[in-house]
Amino acid sequence: MVQAESKTLGRYEPVIGLEVHVQLATRSKLFCPCPAQFGAEPNLNTCPVCLGLPGSLPVLNQEALRMAVKAGLALNCRVAERFKFDRKNYFYPDLPKAYQISQFNKPVNGRGFLTVELKDGPKKIGITRAHLEEDAGKLLHEGVKDGSLVDYNRAGVPLLEIVSEPEIFTTEEAYQYLTTLKAILQYLEVSDCDMEKGSLRCDANISIRPRGEKKLGTKVEIKNMNSFRAVERALQFEIERQTGVLTEGGRLTQETRLWNESRGETFSMRSKEYAHDYRYFPEPDLVPFTLSRAEVEAIRRTLPELPNERIQRLVKDYGISEYDSARLVQEKAVAEYYEASVKEGVSAKLAANWILSELLGHLKEAGTAIQGSKVSAQSLAGLIRLIENNTISGKIAKDVLPEMLATGKSAEAVVKEKGLVQVTDVKLIETVVLKIIQANPKGVEDFRSGKKQAAGFLVGQVMKETQGKANPKLVNEILEKKLAK
Ligand SMILES: [Zn+2]
Repeated sequence: MVQAESKTLGRYEPVIGLEVHVQLATRSKLFCPCPAQFGAEPNLNTCPVCLGLPGSLPVLNQEALRMAVKAGLALNCRVAERFKFDRKNYFYPDLPKAYQISQFNKPVNGRGFLTVELKDGPKKIGITRAHLEEDAGKLLHEGVKDGSLVDYNRAGVPLLEIVSEPEIFTTEEAYQYLTTLKAILQYLEVSDCDMEKGSLRCDANISIRPRGEKKLGTKVEIKNMNSFRAVERALQFEIERQTGVLTEGGRLTQETRLWNESRGETFSMRSKEYAHDYRYFPEPDLVPFTLSRAEVEAIRRTLPELPNERIQRLVKDYGISEYDSARLVQEKAVAEYYEASVKEGVSAKLAANWILSELLGHLKEAGTAIQGSKVSAQSLAGLIRLIENNTISGKIAKDVLPEMLATGKSAEAVVKEKGLVQVTDVKLIETVVLKIIQANPKGVEDFRSGKKQAAGFLVGQVMKETQGKANPKLVNEILEKKLAK
């Protein structure tokens, strides 16, 4: 990101817009009672409505509507008093009706915004709309000799499409927009936002313009990004590619490009000249809907504490930094874990440090979610308590945690088994300190001639001799006293 900005970006500025599709966590589909869950036998979750059989009629799922409004309110959108559905026509085998029921010019949620935390402070990014639509089926090509198979389980599953304004100007802003949006939707419990299962998908569009120019440049759409990091990388690649073309005096074409994760580049899929004309028209099988302000206010009262509110509360209640708080709050499960560990009565700052800099790192390495961790919040608090009461040093604790994660044992059990209890016996430490002083005359001489780093060396030797178990604070004190003589 920083690299490209230094190279070619000086004269140019990228303008980015993001389109996010999330699957709403309803039990049934958007317009029929079929189950909306992922992972069933192919074509099991289908009926005449979602297969588009003649004579069948769609009925709007009220739970999907409630979830859409919840998301709209959390994203500060203007929730429509009157909204309608439209048919988006295109022919593709994964679409049984040959049209998708979507919302064109009267979406349920209009203009809104969300606030992202950037390194330089918060920034508001506009939301154009957040509308309801049904998903398409899925084509299967694997293990099929001639042609493809189609699974309509996903056809008709409710999606909320959230479109941002072209107000994103760096890859960092794009990444933060996505993580913030995901956190809000997870807190609302309207989607699990699992990118691997496809319940959150993101497309981006990006154009480059000379800095100071108001008009947008030629827009390129990017698809096929499977993680937020991939979105960031794909945008970065496009920024460099597009500025390169412009710097060399070339022209950009309006097109759709696919991201290739393993090659780390985008390639052209189709130029916009061949783009579909979707021939949108009002869905005649669904009359326009009205939403009274009282209904909207009733939904507003069900909104839970949202990520931004929680960030502020943790700062206020626990005295941790806004930066740490934001990192803890990003995943709801991590925030819950943090608060549960602090409830055990350990230092809120230590708990934040241990979760952010140790626990999450180990879990990420093992590919485990915090919910699946063998170390519960109470168990982590147990480890922190041992540091607080000087049973073990922080350094030893770093070796204890992986053992706890692997075995599910308590910190106390691991410390006892491995004989890791910290040495706080002054007499014993004195003996070791004297031994080290005798064995390292050079170090002692260096220290006395004013080389402060020599003390660090001597402390290190004492720690080594005690296999890291000596209380570092005591070692420092005793060493200083002995060297002063
Ligand atoms: Zn159905």
